[in-house]
Amino acid sequence: MLSDIAYIGLGSNLGAPVKQLEQALGAIGQHSQMTLVSHSHFYSSLPMGPQDQPDYVNAVCKIKTSMQPQELLATLQIIENQQGRERLGDRWGPRTLDLDILLYNDLVLKTKHLTLPHYGMQEREFVLVPLFELSPDLTMQDGRPLANWVAKCNLEGLYRINPKVSSLTTSASVT
Ligand code: ATP
Ligand code: CA
Ligand code: CA
Repeated sequence: MLSDIAYIGLGSNLGAPVKQLEQALGAIGQHSQMTLVSHSHFYSSLPMGPQDQPDYVNAVCKIKTSMQPQELLATLQIIENQQGRERLGDRWGPRTLDLDILLYNDLVLKTKHLTLPHYGMQEREFVLVPLFELSPDLTMQDGRPLANWVAKCNLEGLYRINPKVSSLTTSASVT
């Protein structure tokens, strides 16, 4: 049963980022234990941390899954690796693909390898804005509406881009 709902944050700033995100959404949609429910537009954003790297392309997708969170994380890391993700040790350094689990149902979890909801969401406009596009009525873990978080974030450098996404299959595509 694909009964659990998760939101995944996607990011890339190497190796044709728009294509990387399209490919990742394709891999998620084709996986037997995940259904791609919807995805946001793609956004261009300024890098966090080291500034001597290209701008990022970001998006958020909503999935249904039968996987438990740890298994979902491992599966997303396989997709990252398949798309040439190198782990060079530099925090927030450039990468072909980053897939973070933002939310998994309303689960709150803190283990060595997985924190849910994702710890950095509140300050990250490139996560909050596409998430708001998909699910504007979400309530966040502090009990506040997502809209409040969005209103407080710094939108500098963030803009929507419009790649071709017609080849992607979702059950409720946002285009
Ligand atoms: P950030 O986590 O600040 O966005 P990052 O995405 O660049 O930075 P990574 O190198 O991709 O960091 O991941 C580091 C580790 O974060 C992963 O190996 C994973 O175990 C852990 N992690 C903890 N919580 C999550 C989560 N919700 N989604 C994805 N990875 C997570
Ligand atoms: Ca990340
Ligand atoms: Ca990550």
